[in-house]
Amino acid sequence: MRASYKRAVEALCGAQRIVTASHVNPDGDALGSILALTHALKALGKEVVPISTDGVPDIYAWMPGADWVQTSTERRDFDVAVVCDAGTLERAGNSQTVALESATIMIDIDHHVADGPFGDIQIVDDKAAATAELVYSLIRALGTAAGRDLVSREIAECLMTGLITDTGSFRFMNVTPRTFYLAARLQKHGADPAPIAERVFENRSLAGLKLLGRALDSLLVSADGRVAWAAVTANDFLELHAADDETEGIVNQIRAIRGADVGVLFREIPGRKIRVSLRAREGSDVNAIAAVFGGGGHKLASGCSLDPPLVDAVRLVVAECVRQVGIDAVPTR
Ligand code: 5GP
Ligand code: MN
Repeated sequence: MRASYKRAVEALCGAQRIVTASHVNPDGDALGSILALTHALKALGKEVVPISTDGVPDIYAWMPGADWVQTSTERRDFDVAVVCDAGTLERAGNSQTVALESATIMIDIDHHVADGPFGDIQIVDDKAAATAELVYSLIRALGTAAGRDLVSREIAECLMTGLITDTGSFRFMNVTPRTFYLAARLQKHGADPAPIAERVFENRSLAGLKLLGRALDSLLVSADGRVAWAAVTANDFLELHAADDETEGIVNQIRAIRGADVGVLFREIPGRKIRVSLRAREGSDVNAIAAVFGGGGHKLASGCSLDPPLVDAVRLVVAECVRQVGIDAVPTR
C-alpha cells in the first residue's frame, strides 16, 4: 500500500492536467473524495477538473468546490485521471470512460474491492470505512512531498462529509479506530461534524419525505420477517415531482425493522432501469445478492439494476434474498 501512495504522489506531482471522477449517483464519500483531492491538487498549482456524471445532489451543493464539478468533459489531454469510490471504472459513468482512459495514468482510490481494482495505480483498501480515509492519506503524502500541510478547512469538510455519510454518522460496522482518529483530526482542521450532518440528513425536500411515505406504504416483509422491501414507483416520482437522489436514506429505514436482516428499496425511475438498493445487518451479505443481478458493493450495502417491469424485478430480487437469507421460501406480507 505504501508503494501505491508513493507512485500516486509521483504521478500527481509530475502531472499538470488532472481529472478527478466520482461514481454515478454520487454520495457524500464520492463527492467529498474528488473535491478534497481537487482542492489539494489546485493548491499545488495543478489544473483539475472534477467530474460527476450525475452532477451534485442538492444536499451536497454546499460542499466547498461543488461549483467546480462538471457532468462531462470532451477533453482528452489529461495527464492523470483519479477515480474515487467507484468499484468499477464503468460506475464512473459510461459516457466518461473514454476521457478517463485517455489519461496517461489512471489512479483507482476505493474501499470497494469486489469487482475492481482497475487502473495503473491502486489505492484500494476494503478496511477503510470511506474512500475519504484513503484520500486523506494521499493528501498527507502529497503534502509531505510538497513540504507543506495541504489539509485546509475546505478539505477537512469534504472528507468529514465522506466519513459521516459512509458510516451513517459513525454508526455502521465499518467504523474503526482509524475512522475516529481521522474524524478528530478533521475536526481540529475546522470541520465540525454537527453542521455537516444537519445539512446532509436534516435537509430533506418535501417531495423526498413524501417519497419516504410512499415507500413505507408499500412495505412488505417475508414470512420469517428477515427480508423487508419497499418500492417507489414511476408514478410516485411523477406525482411528487421528485428525483431519484431524493430517495437517499430510505433503504436504511427499511432495514431498521426489528428482525429484518436485509432491507431492499426498489426505484422505478422514469425512463431508466429499475434501481435496487440493498442493506444488511452484520452477518448477512447483500453483495452476494446484488452480484446475482450483475451489481455489487459491500456485504452490508450494495446495489444493482434490473430491466422493468417493476413487479418482475421485485419478485426476482426478493426471491433471491429469501433464498440466501430467509428461512421460509415463500415471501408474503
Ligand atoms: P446505493 O444503494 O447507495 O446506490 O449503493 C450502495 C453500495 O452499492 C455503494 O457502495 C455502491 O457503490 C454499490 N453499488 C450500487 N449499485 C451498484 C451497481 O449497480 N454495481 C456495483 N458494482 N455496485 C453498486
Ligand atoms: Mn464510499
